[in-house]
Amino acid sequence: MLKTAHNAIKKAAAKLNLSAEEVEKLLELDAAHEFNIVLKNGKSFKGYRMQHDNSRGPYKGGIRFHHEVDFDEVKALATLMSLKTALVNIPLGGGKGGIVVNPKELSEEELEELSRGYVQHLQPHIGPRKDVPAPDVNTNPKIIDWMVDEYAKITGDTSNATFTGKSIQHGGSLGRDSATGRGGLFTIEAILRLMGKEDQDFKYAVQGFGNVGAFFAELVQERFPKWKLVAATDSSGGVYNPAGLDAKKLSEYKSNKNRFSDYQADGVEHISGDDVLKLDLSLLTFAALGGVVNVDNQSGIKAEMILEMANGPVSGDAAELLEKRGVKIIPDILANAGGVVVSYFEWMQNLNGEKWSLDRVNTELKTSMVEATENVFNKSKIENISFKEAAILIAVARLISTK
Ligand code: NAD
Repeated sequence: MLKTAHNAIKKAAAKLNLSAEEVEKLLELDAAHEFNIVLKNGKSFKGYRMQHDNSRGPYKGGIRFHHEVDFDEVKALATLMSLKTALVNIPLGGGKGGIVVNPKELSEEELEELSRGYVQHLQPHIGPRKDVPAPDVNTNPKIIDWMVDEYAKITGDTSNATFTGKSIQHGGSLGRDSATGRGGLFTIEAILRLMGKEDQDFKYAVQGFGNVGAFFAELVQERFPKWKLVAATDSSGGVYNPAGLDAKKLSEYKSNKNRFSDYQADGVEHISGDDVLKLDLSLLTFAALGGVVNVDNQSGIKAEMILEMANGPVSGDAAELLEKRGVKIIPDILANAGGVVVSYFEWMQNLNGEKWSLDRVNTELKTSMVEATENVFNKSKIENISFKEAAILIAVARLISTK
């Protein structure tokens, strides 16, 4: 993923005639924090926080709890955050954090101690005007609330503005839970309008039916009732029904910590995680982890369009081959930017002591997402480049202008 991000930046930099020094600044981190969090029972976990760029505002990015988290992955994700905040033009920079852990193997008490321990290590480097973390894979408002509480205990700060993605009762924003999925809906809706394809009935699949994927599918079902969700997967496997799955029912099922491998319903078949890549689809949505599609498996993809709701699901080389075959890829830094846009709204509400209505959050999110999508679409037309290249080009130009 780091190689893909760096190559994309270098390509954009060449188009913009940037100097070697400017390119170096875009590739390197401002700071990398790496530490061990040791629990009272002696269990030890590696923690990271990467701060990539704060020239446009405080570092901003989620904290991921996953057993495959490593230095390069967090660095890549921090770099993507700088590009994303620049693309949607909000006054925040890029950062990312992670802990190497499988949270399913921890008790509730261990999870809380680990979350608080992360903040104890990182506290000098974060703050409302320094670095504002948020949830990511396997982290949620409950974990963020523990982190906020720990930060307040250590520093006395009660603004709640050091973290976003909090629960509503602890200063979170209405609409943050669904923001990434909703942003994806606004993006695909705008792209189809711009492509003159808005009336087309879609057959689509979602890889990764967690926070992002489930909200996306539920919102699509409301907005485009004729679209068919034919497959959905989680880490246990997938469910498939050519006649269409009910996104709301699947979402309810998943919210009770159930696995798709145990799901039973009329007309539903079980498929493997890999099968979803090979389905005949109008739209394939990636909402799990990065590094899914590479040069070797891209040839099996039959979808007409790909929506990258996860960060970095398609490698740079695979993306080029897919684009050559006419597959349109809506890039991660655009498709999943809804989360950071509403995180920005949450941070503003905390700093200004405001509470926005859900309607205001969703309306302002739509304005941001449609504007960013139109910019990417127009740039891709003018330069005759892919949506992915256009998005990176806009972001790099904005980033370098403030460095
Ligand atoms: P989540 O933990 O809520 O959900 C992830 C889902 O992916 C789970 O259902 C899990 O079972 C599934 N999964 C894991 N491995 C899989 C595999 N190999 N095949 C199929 N499914 C698999 O996480 P999330 O918050 O929904 O994030 C999903 C992706 O979206 C991540 O890449 C994240 O970085 C990105 N993202 C999230 C946000 C946000 O606001 N949550 C914002 C921007 C980007």
